[in-house]
Amino acid sequence: MEIPENILTECHEYGVAAYPEETCGFIIGNREVPDSLETVLPMRNIMNDLHEKDPAQYPRTARDGYVIDPLEQLKLERSLKKEGKEIKVIYHSHPDVGAYFSAKDKEDALWNGKARYPGVSFLVCGTTDGKPDGAIIADFNQDSGDFDITPVTVNSSAASGGLVGGTFGITGILPTIDFIHEWKNGNRELQYGYFRFVNHQHIKDLHAELCSRSGARYALTYCSGSAALFELLIYLRESLPNINLYFSSNSALSADGIQSLEISCKSLDLKNLIDPELLSAKNGDVLLLAMEAPELFVKENSEWLAKLKRQRVTVIFYSSNLQASDQWPVGLTFWISAISSPETATKHSGIEGGVILSNADRQIAELTETRKRNGSVLSARNAAVLLKMLKEEDTDLHDIAKLSGINKTWELSNPEQKITEKLCEWEHATAGFLFPSGMSAVHSVMNLLRKKSKNQVIVIGLMYSDSYNLLMSPGRSSRWEAEFVGLDELEKLDQIISENTAMIVTETITNPLVEVPDLNRIGDIASAHEVPFVVDNTIASPVNCQPIDYGADYVIHSTTKYLSGSNDHAGGVVLAKNSRNASAIENFRRCWGLRLSPLESTVLWECMQDFAERMARFNSNCTAVADFLSEHAAVDMVYHPSQSSHSSYFTAKKLLSGNGGVVSFTLKDESENALKIFHDKEFSSIIKAPSIGSNQTLICPYPMLTHYFDTDEDLREIKLPRHLIRVSVGCETEIEGILTDLDCALKRTIQ
Ligand code: PLP
Repeated sequence: MEIPENILTECHEYGVAAYPEETCGFIIGNREVPDSLETVLPMRNIMNDLHEKDPAQYPRTARDGYVIDPLEQLKLERSLKKEGKEIKVIYHSHPDVGAYFSAKDKEDALWNGKARYPGVSFLVCGTTDGKPDGAIIADFNQDSGDFDITPVTVNSSAASGGLVGGTFGITGILPTIDFIHEWKNGNRELQYGYFRFVNHQHIKDLHAELCSRSGARYALTYCSGSAALFELLIYLRESLPNINLYFSSNSALSADGIQSLEISCKSLDLKNLIDPELLSAKNGDVLLLAMEAPELFVKENSEWLAKLKRQRVTVIFYSSNLQASDQWPVGLTFWISAISSPETATKHSGIEGGVILSNADRQIAELTETRKRNGSVLSARNAAVLLKMLKEEDTDLHDIAKLSGINKTWELSNPEQKITEKLCEWEHATAGFLFPSGMSAVHSVMNLLRKKSKNQVIVIGLMYSDSYNLLMSPGRSSRWEAEFVGLDELEKLDQIISENTAMIVTETITNPLVEVPDLNRIGDIASAHEVPFVVDNTIASPVNCQPIDYGADYVIHSTTKYLSGSNDHAGGVVLAKNSRNASAIENFRRCWGLRLSPLESTVLWECMQDFAERMARFNSNCTAVADFLSEHAAVDMVYHPSQSSHSSYFTAKKLLSGNGGVVSFTLKDESENALKIFHDKEFSSIIKAPSIGSNQTLICPYPMLTHYFDTDEDLREIKLPRHLIRVSVGCETEIEGILTDLDCALKRTIQ
């Protein structure tokens, strides 16, 4: 465990103050965040009192022992529970004997040979001659039945990030504004972050294993082998001036889907290989070789591959299984493989992944960027299971359920159908399809509807940053074009729509300005022109709005957000109004291999059970926060449609039955310094992390994360204040703690 420097210093200071006696107390952190260490709470050491009353039973004094006042501890534990906090560490000091875990410390920490406080660590701070003198941490090890002792490593960045959402958490803490600057300027790598942007530790571990098996320098995982292939082909199509694909198909890979990419494609015979002299990188020649035994092929055709290397021709292998190889084959640019174990195909169908392996630094860096936006990611939960399966042949269902933190065996009740049926009922849709992330759902609908012959996308309002980025970086060869229309410019729509219009797209409640477009009016115009109408309904949620009733053809959700709420699930869904739209999206998803893992759908289904109830609280809590902010002397603008000052107040009343859980605001003092004063100190009940729809309230300086490098003029154009603060209000049963946190932080900015 890493102890933030400020926390360790504080513990040492209490040790110095109590010297020559022992001090004791707790380090408190957020219950939802495993590594969070927020506050030091010193407790009364009652050792001297006990000794005085009964020296026979208590021979030690506070000079060489400690006992935490049990009444004080009980009271504290009750109040922590209410605040979503818990004791993470018990600390005490050792005057003049050095920092070590004594036999007495161990005896007190055990109960019948087991940890007395499971999950709690012990910190011992040395205090020699009244000065700090090292520290150790003792953690109970279930396997050995003893404590592991580690010298304390100090996290010198004082404010360290942490994972939110437990073992498979999907977002990370951004503790200070300077921390964000350091990250954005490339001076800090995030250890924990939003799942599409920062690889979870389970993904990193799987990447390392796949590299060591293939001899590749880089591995980039995807939700399936075909998703990996499609990502690579789209990347090549967008980055090369032109692409000529030579393609050898086999049972694992057919030409169907590839044709939908609008790439020129010739077939290739592996038994009668094309002369390398006829190929060149300049012509955009790319060879895609599907094969089951790449090792053998490499051995038999090493000269041919070496010649292709000299011609700088891109060579891709595609195999349905990764065979171990010590050395990366000469002449190979990318190796794409499905990730599975022999058991996956038979016993555990549905748990799958895909990987692009390569030694090409620049291309992998660029593919990493496109994967963030396209969202065809492998879930951390799947990565953990796949890694175990790769390493241990006899992984069974029980192991998988235990490892992935789900208490039911998913195979018995794969809930995909139940989820989509429920969502169709809520959204008045005909059919629904799950995707590995919200962005994968957005990207799929865009790709399905945009064609070379229909290349215009009309965007109403400011969409979520990655949807916006997807539209703004359409690539070199596609010639897609986005037309942005403000919510108050709908009268322009009739003129803008042309035979090139592929779709009109918007969000029911936009992120982060919380605006509500007039879906009814847009739906009428779209239908009059027979243009598909796509609505991202993530922030409103199916409880508050059914866009299909207003004419939407496709409705999208990131299930990572309200529908799950637990911060430990990633997924997305596309709901189709009619069966024609449904079969189009179903075919697309099948070809591109964009499936949601059954492990993720199991988690989602469990979380959806109390969704309507949670959403009612999201609505009411957020309105309470918006009202509170509107009244506060330190606040300038509040962006929430419950407020009569908000531009969408009337449209929201017309279209929504509730206003959702996102509220944004600006401070009266617009400076970055005021933002720091507001943001940087610890909150008690609010987590400083990006994402929305979390059951626990999250806060972030949104434009600093998503529009960091935009100029003031860029931001003015999209009406986005640089220092806007976005609160994703949670569904806590008590909102007082949230309001108190906000009040304290706001007051600091006007003191
Ligand atoms: N749509 C909206 C409105 C969002 O806010 C987000 C993410 O924040 C997405 C889509 C993308 O979802 P995901 O992060 O699950 O890919």
